Amino acid sequence: MAEAQEYDREFDVVVVGSGGGALTGALLAQRAGLSTVVVEKTGLLGGTSAYSGGACWLPGSQVQQRAGIGDSTEGARTYLAAVLEDPDQELVEAFLARSPELVAELEEAGIPFEWLPFSEYYDAPGRVAMGRSIQPANIKRGDVAPEVAELVRPPVERDRLGEGGRNTLSGGQALIARLLDGFVRAGGAVLTELPVTGLVLDGERVAGVAAMTPEGPVQVRARRGVIVAAGGFEGNAEARAAHGVPGDVAWTMAPRGTNTGEPIAAAVAIGAAADYRGVGWFCPGLEQPDGGGSFTLGFRSGLMVDQRGQRYGNESLPYDRFGRIMAEAPERIPSWFVFDSREGGRLPAIAMPEGDPAEHLAAGTWVRADTVAGLAERIGVPADALVATVERFNRFCAGGADEDFGRGVDEYDTFFTGGAGPTPCDQAPFYAARFVLSDLGTKGGLVTDAAGRVLRPDGSAIRGLYAAGNSAASVFGPRYPGPGAPLGSAMVFASLAVRAIVG
Ligand SMILES: Cc1cc2nc3c(=O)[nH]c(=O)nc-3n(C[C@H](O)[C@H](O)[C@H](O)COP(=O)(O)OP(=O)(O)OC[C@H]3O[C@@H](n4cnc5c(N)ncnc54)[C@H](O)[C@@H]3O)c2cc1C
Repeated sequence: MAEAQEYDREFDVVVVGSGGGALTGALLAQRAGLSTVVVEKTGLLGGTSAYSGGACWLPGSQVQQRAGIGDSTEGARTYLAAVLEDPDQELVEAFLARSPELVAELEEAGIPFEWLPFSEYYDAPGRVAMGRSIQPANIKRGDVAPEVAELVRPPVERDRLGEGGRNTLSGGQALIARLLDGFVRAGGAVLTELPVTGLVLDGERVAGVAAMTPEGPVQVRARRGVIVAAGGFEGNAEARAAHGVPGDVAWTMAPRGTNTGEPIAAAVAIGAAADYRGVGWFCPGLEQPDGGGSFTLGFRSGLMVDQRGQRYGNESLPYDRFGRIMAEAPERIPSWFVFDSREGGRLPAIAMPEGDPAEHLAAGTWVRADTVAGLAERIGVPADALVATVERFNRFCAGGADEDFGRGVDEYDTFFTGGAGPTPCDQAPFYAARFVLSDLGTKGGLVTDAAGRVLRPDGSAIRGLYAAGNSAASVFGPRYPGPGAPLGSAMVFASLAVRAIVG
């Protein structure tokens, strides 16, 4: 698809990046009759979105209505009002109003969604029991155009090993495959292995992108608009340091070699405003033998301790909330997750990917011992402190209440335990797994208005330039309201950008 003669070409709309927001914008623009091209840095499409569960927090749509759950735009407004910190209300209202319309348009375009039971992340007014997230229906590889199936980035556990995707595309794989299939069938163009390095100006208007090929620089011109939806800067150590993002490029979940933030920097270089206060979507990361991190959620038993052997939070908190607590003190990175043998030596949680326990033990990212004191010695944590912490936790489990951090009370906590409260850590041998602070992407970036237009610091819009997804400052700021908030907001603001471009 990335033929050399396609470079230096002109389209109505140039979409930079190929995640859920980018491809939603591309599909809608192409279907609106605008010639559209997706320009992707790597050889595969989908970015972190392809790794995702495909949950979309798009409240108040026909899908939630069909499922008969207690969701509504009004309920979501109440929930966001309780959860968000000093939001831009215009953006929030645009998100709420556009979500149901967008879902209707995507279903109309042949992309079916279904309700995904998954608890929301705050116990706040307006919360829907078992959540209000939706996801695209699975699709078989053979049911999408062959070039589409080839281009979808495989799931994380396979991609990191250089393996291909599965035959049934689910979650983020289904989202990317379905959007891309619709886009390509509608006549959309895709250029891969074409990193965007800058923006082309025609006077004050953005008129295209500059990109780099092995043969040298090229331009892809945009008659109507450029939508930057190229992820955040989670893979860029310098930018992370400059904008105060905790964690490390080695621990981010973004595919290797993807999101280093050049398109954000290119927009800032022509006068765009940026807001980095949202920082990132965080999570505890199981450290891998190669130094990478694995997004981990849904702890069923075990307890997390810092380097002093102390617990510091409810391990069952939604992952972004726990990640932010990890980031508060240096002795929490790395942490050790202490668990027992009740699951046969497997981690009692969902780690994406978990990795092979034997390889972890050989590498020292996991340690095993017959006693908790022995474990402490092997991980360099004071033995008396760790033994006291485990004994205290086990007493709480026996009494049915975590008196320190209230674990096992909220609906989210028990979602992963089948309703059970905290479970003791008392079956030898014992394990400790090293945990770091991972992220699902940064979410500070370009400031946009309710039409997805990129703004200057004085509030005026840069003509021809739009942003969505992790390239933009998140509508949710530093909060992660529920499953699917990254994709849902990326898709909505990309679709609003298209609406503004169509005019
Ligand atoms: C295991 C896992 C599960 C998750 N589950 C969910 C979920 O269910 N729901 C949810 O909402 N979120 C989920 N997330 C988080 C979510 O996937 C990401 O935050 C979100 O997909 C980011 O979307 P994006 O479009 O901003 O970036 P990405 O999806 O990462 O896409 C960015 C793309 O832009 C390309 N690009 C970067 N720079 C350039 C450049 N200079 N030129 C051209 N192209 C460029 C990249 O190569 C990449 O392909 C999950 C994350 C993980 C890791």
